[in-house]
Amino acid sequence: MKLSTRLAQRGRKAKSSPGTVNLPVVRASTVTFASVAEMDAVQKRFDADEPIPTYGITNMPLRVAFEEMISDIEGGHRAVTLPTGAAAVSVAIMATVQKGDHVLVTDSCYGPTRRFCDRTLARFGVETTYYDPTIGAGIAALMKPNTRCVYLESPGSITFEVQDFPAIAKEAKARGAAVIHDNTWATGVFFRSFEHGADLVVQAASKYPGGHSDLLLGAVVANEKWWPMLRDTSRDLGQYASPDDLFLALRGMRTLEVRLKHHEESALEIAKRLQKHPGVRRVLHPALPDDPGHAIWKRDYLGSSGLFGVELDATGRDRMAKFVDGLECFALGYSWGGYDSLVAPANLGRYGRVVRPWKGGELVRLQVGLEDVEDLYADLERGLARMKA
Ligand SMILES: *Cc1c(COP(=O)(O)O)cnc(C)c1O
Repeated sequence: MKLSTRLAQRGRKAKSSPGTVNLPVVRASTVTFASVAEMDAVQKRFDADEPIPTYGITNMPLRVAFEEMISDIEGGHRAVTLPTGAAAVSVAIMATVQKGDHVLVTDSCYGPTRRFCDRTLARFGVETTYYDPTIGAGIAALMKPNTRCVYLESPGSITFEVQDFPAIAKEAKARGAAVIHDNTWATGVFFRSFEHGADLVVQAASKYPGGHSDLLLGAVVANEKWWPMLRDTSRDLGQYASPDDLFLALRGMRTLEVRLKHHEESALEIAKRLQKHPGVRRVLHPALPDDPGHAIWKRDYLGSSGLFGVELDATGRDRMAKFVDGLECFALGYSWGGYDSLVAPANLGRYGRVVRPWKGGELVRLQVGLEDVEDLYADLERGLARMKA
């Protein structure tokens, strides 16, 4: 079945559902059994890795449905769900390493990913080296005998560098390291991580899968090889996802492709217009033909989403604030991926990363929502005029 059909059809059938189109929310800690014999039989199937619940912490109907959906859409074997995207990042990395190992993480990663590596991972004796996201096959030179994991995020958070995924994955695999990809920006709709060599894929389901800025959820999808380690790590850490959030996220998935295509078209139109605006020095969006990552993006991606960076022709936080503060359609806040437009200052220094050189203007990130493009662009134009005044 094609993608659109799978998004509409997957994850709707469960024995407990009374024939409704959508699965009901089932809230539970305890699952009861009719007899010891039944309990033992169910436990046996659970131990054989059937997605069957023995207790509310795992394998409840909505969770199984969402995990089947997300692993299908990302193109992997099986998935675990977690309470947040941040938990998905840490569980994915922890599934691949042990004391004394070394990991390579893109310098352009989501800030809290870096914090997890520098703080918690380091505490458990795992060393992290950050690499230039544009390194490509050059990653080979950074690999040590104990490098167990290469972590990619493409395009990078805030700076939007596109990574040469197949080249990096090839070098990692040749040396026995697991390849993890944070695919939150593109989702499985626009980037097929497993086909490009991923072993584990992280998805912050709070973003596009949720799609409505009203839930927190994360997922990690594994290939067959990494599934047992992912499953056990997630279980050992007691990870759980709320059925209410799963219900909303599964509902969000139904419109994922439709929304993404609309986000793509509107964001690209606004990016193109901003590129020509004198209040803007540079637009960081890989689908723009003159973006440094465009060739690789075009080769590997099936589309672009609604999030990109804008380097303003202004220096200083006060000037940038003049642009941001009066915006009417773009609310100021963290996160993205909802139907609503958002703006956020980049705060690049916060996680101490080395970024690609640029012209020194203030950087903001825009999430282009589903509003009318003309309304959105007019809002930004007024902001740029305020900034220049
Ligand atoms: C938001 C985000 C996360 C974390 O997701 P939360 O659900 O907000 O914890 C991880 N990776 C990327 C790229 C993100 O943008």
